[in-house]
Amino acid sequence: MTEKEIRKTLKEKLDPKRYSHTIGVAKTAKKLASYYGVDPDRAYLAGLLHDCAKNVPKSDRISTAERYGVELTDVERRNTGLIHAKLGEAMARKDFGIVDEGILSAIRWHTVGHPGMTMLEEIIYVADFIEPNRKKLPGLNRLRTLAYQDLDKCVVEMLEASFIYLEKQGREVDPSGMETYQYYKEKGNA
Ligand code: FE
Ligand code: FE
Repeated sequence: MTEKEIRKTLKEKLDPKRYSHTIGVAKTAKKLASYYGVDPDRAYLAGLLHDCAKNVPKSDRISTAERYGVELTDVERRNTGLIHAKLGEAMARKDFGIVDEGILSAIRWHTVGHPGMTMLEEIIYVADFIEPNRKKLPGLNRLRTLAYQDLDKCVVEMLEASFIYLEKQGREVDPSGMETYQYYKEKGNA
């Protein structure tokens, strides 16, 4: 699929709010990539597709993941909102014909990250958080500045913010996210 065809398909597939978010992430990722010397076209494409599985209704998430051959953890089965990351990777591969493993893994890890992320993975993680359509969260302006100063530190602060948010909502923190956090926290202190 060409980039234009991907955009068209996503526009049909996603609700308008999700589509605006998607375009926001793609553009923000492209900007961050140029700034950090990463291929901006790959970043744009990863941003475009990062939420491509987000339209799957709650009741179908587990069965769709199984149909795409995606293995789920217990946390993902309990908290099906997390599934769209791995499922997105599978859909990007099978439905959108993406073969670039770097793009695919940036989609896969965009919700919880992992220790030792590539620049592209970090860029998508950060872009998802700071894209212009995001609701005004406390500290968002600071994070938008930090994204262009220290990407690792930005990841740490975003994970922290998401843990606080999950805690407030009484929701479970994915242990993978916690591992990512510990890795980047230590890296920053080293
Ligand atoms: Fe997402
Ligand atoms: Fe997103």
